[in-house]
Amino acid sequence: MEIPEKGLAREQVLEMLREFKEGDVNYRDSKTWSLVYYLGDEHTRFLVEAYSTFISENALNPMAFKSLKRFEHEVVRMSAGLLGGDDNVVGVMTSGGTESCLLPVMTYRDRAASKGLFRSKKPEMIAPRSIHVAWEKAARYFGVKMVHAPLRKDLRVDVEAVKKLINRNTVLIVGSAPSYPHGVIDPIAELGQVAQEHNLPFHVDSCLGGFLLPFVEQLGYEIPAFDFRVPGVTSISADIHKYGYSAKGASVLLYRKMDYLKHQFFVHESWPGGVFISPALLGTRPGGAIAAAWASLKAIGMEGYLELARKVMETTEALQEGIRSIPELEVLSDPEMSVFAYRSTAKKANIFAIGDQMEERGWQVDRLQHPEALHAMVTPLHERIVEEFIADLKRSVERVIADPSLAKKGNAALYGMIAKVPLKGVVKKEVLKMMEQIYGPEMKMPY
Ligand SMILES: *Cc1c(COP(=O)(O)O)cnc(C)c1O
Repeated sequence: MEIPEKGLAREQVLEMLREFKEGDVNYRDSKTWSLVYYLGDEHTRFLVEAYSTFISENALNPMAFKSLKRFEHEVVRMSAGLLGGDDNVVGVMTSGGTESCLLPVMTYRDRAASKGLFRSKKPEMIAPRSIHVAWEKAARYFGVKMVHAPLRKDLRVDVEAVKKLINRNTVLIVGSAPSYPHGVIDPIAELGQVAQEHNLPFHVDSCLGGFLLPFVEQLGYEIPAFDFRVPGVTSISADIHKYGYSAKGASVLLYRKMDYLKHQFFVHESWPGGVFISPALLGTRPGGAIAAAWASLKAIGMEGYLELARKVMETTEALQEGIRSIPELEVLSDPEMSVFAYRSTAKKANIFAIGDQMEERGWQVDRLQHPEALHAMVTPLHERIVEEFIADLKRSVERVIADPSLAKKGNAALYGMIAKVPLKGVVKKEVLKMMEQIYGPEMKMPY
């Protein structure tokens, strides 16, 4: 494969793109339960227009593109207001949830270092076992030790355990609102108090909930305070490309005050390329993603988000009711919003085999482990498919019960095997090998 000697006609290339897309998962018919937050063609066209208006612009230099700095500023202000922040809250837009979770780890590590905390040993952060994997990545990238706190029976973090894990090397406590795997909100108020008592920063990962929970609360659902209204919370991450329904590449990272954010700024004064400053991880920052995020917040508005939240919650309730009507299945814990896990309560109804059956029926479902379960992230358009989904789920459960050998085939067999591998590190080694093939010169896909 080489770059074509003579460029192809643009229309031909676009046709190829459209063709390749056909083999992908079908989110437009709401068959996916993660990855895409789709509101339909009209909103998508609007985002495309907003994005393309700024497709060449670069937020690397806020002096050159004052428009983008203004969008970023306004997105930060709108988000801060939504999340209970006052006028002192500051922040940046980032490329997504991962960047909004990586940066606080680096920032609080360097803040602690600047104060001479943890001089001799590796800095540590304490996070629930259910914390998003982006934090594990941050631990590796920035040399901060991840200390996991166990979960209570309801899958929220055990605050007493967190207390006991604090030591002189702790630079940060993290909680989720809600957690990605189980969709439950950690006891943020209690964690905030612990953080204050120990004079530690406390970050709330609200990548999923940031642009949904405030509206769910307005609808009258019981949502515990999870944002800047909790005194100990020092920073929050919230993804606009999730329930903000923006184009991909947009998240916001907010700090209670400049005193924290300033440790994130990067300045290199002696670079031959000039004095370089950067507020976040990226160098070149795509103007389109920033403009589209701003546009999404402006166009949907508070009333729009409230209406979308109503649909999401009603759909979630209908789905959970459907799942509970199947005797062999249960929803894990009592998730506050629209993300949840469900598993099998019957030995002969292997949950991953049920997942395989759902995939055969055209659904894209994600699998969880410890405990084994399937996962759902509900969006407004799932409203249309509740009955179809539950009917297929019923059929899938029946099919698996009728044929137990299905648990020994397909993905179910793979996951079953992984769960049984006794030696730590074996799975990781195998997966790394697989990655070398996928990313190798021949792009060997495992399926
Ligand atoms: C999605 C998510 C992230 C990571 O965000 P990306 O946009 O996928 O990089 C981090 N934390 C939580 C809770 C999330 O749901």
